Amino acid sequence: MTLNVGVIGVGMIGQDHIRRLTRVLSGVRVSAVTDVDLDRARTIADDLPGATLHSTGAELIADPGVDAVVVTSWGPTHEEYVLACIAAGKQVFCEKPLATTREACDRIVDAELAAGRRLVSVGFMRRYDAQYKAMKAVVTGGEIGAPLLMHAAHRNPSVPDFFTSDMIINDSTVHDIDVARWMFDEEIVTVTVLKPRRSSKAREGFNDPLLVLLEMASGVIVDVEASVNAGFAYDIRGEVVCEDGTVELSESAGALVKRAGSVSARVPEDWRERFVLAFDTEFQTWIDAVTAGGTTGPSAWDGYAATVVCGTGLASLRSDAREPVVLREKPDLYKEG
Ligand code: NAP
Repeated sequence: MTLNVGVIGVGMIGQDHIRRLTRVLSGVRVSAVTDVDLDRARTIADDLPGATLHSTGAELIADPGVDAVVVTSWGPTHEEYVLACIAAGKQVFCEKPLATTREACDRIVDAELAAGRRLVSVGFMRRYDAQYKAMKAVVTGGEIGAPLLMHAAHRNPSVPDFFTSDMIINDSTVHDIDVARWMFDEEIVTVTVLKPRRSSKAREGFNDPLLVLLEMASGVIVDVEASVNAGFAYDIRGEVVCEDGTVELSESAGALVKRAGSVSARVPEDWRERFVLAFDTEFQTWIDAVTAGGTTGPSAWDGYAATVVCGTGLASLRSDAREPVVLREKPDLYKEG
């Protein structure tokens, strides 16, 4: 059986997901596309045999030729499309963020609860990365004892001029926030954002790097260095310190070269290179689950929690204080798995 997927938003990541859905993965085809920029959507549709071009997301979601929907439009538009998918009873894969405010995420969680089943999967692809999965297996296996701390770094080589300190939390650190919740199977209870000396490569008024401290319910503390003008490459680091040992992401997935008294290895240029296989696995897993009649992966609850923690991080960025994370009670629908 082939799953017919409609894609809303065909910008950078939308086009990358269409490439994997059409050329890399199995059991799926892109049957419809739309974008607020219709000319861009038309160009993409012209390259997809049999795909329908829709002028709005609502039209695409209502199309009987669309079995499930991928939302890759701009973050503030996600709520509208995810709610429409839930109302239509269609499975939806929504790129992060699930929605940009706590209230919008609440409305999505409430709609899914009213539907009585999970219809939403959120694009936190690090959960599908082989290195992160191996790290989690060691932590949860208990072979090096109880976890105490996690050190993480999220270094971007550079960012566009419109990037702000808020986006370091909402767009970069959000992935580390999801990793922390997933790694330790518990919620984040406080966030403290520290502002180290400002990089001379960051423009005036832009705090870069940031040091984000996440305190987990058990007392584990996760420190995330988030730098967006690191210059050299896209460098993602992670190390969990446990009572009897440590586990860390490998320095390089590629080959180590030793020559002339030095060792070198490739560091990825950007997030696409670093996480290409994670994105592939994330989507194939989702396609298989949807084809079997359900869904999988990070839930609307995970999307809600990530947005609330990011909002708490923004509060700390402004107050210079340790801020408590206030979550609603977790509904039973999200308690399994
Ligand atoms: P992008 O290049 O700006 O693409 C977004 C596309 O959506 C653009 O074509 C945009 O058109 C279109 N759009 C805007 N409003 C729309 C609407 N109301 N209906 C339909 N289409 C609309 O952004 P991107 O980098 O691909 O990011 C898209 C989403 O993916 C964001 O939520 C982002 O956070 C997420 N993302 C996730 C990862 C990850 O690591 N998982 C990586 C990158 C991005 P205009 O350009 O004309 O506005």
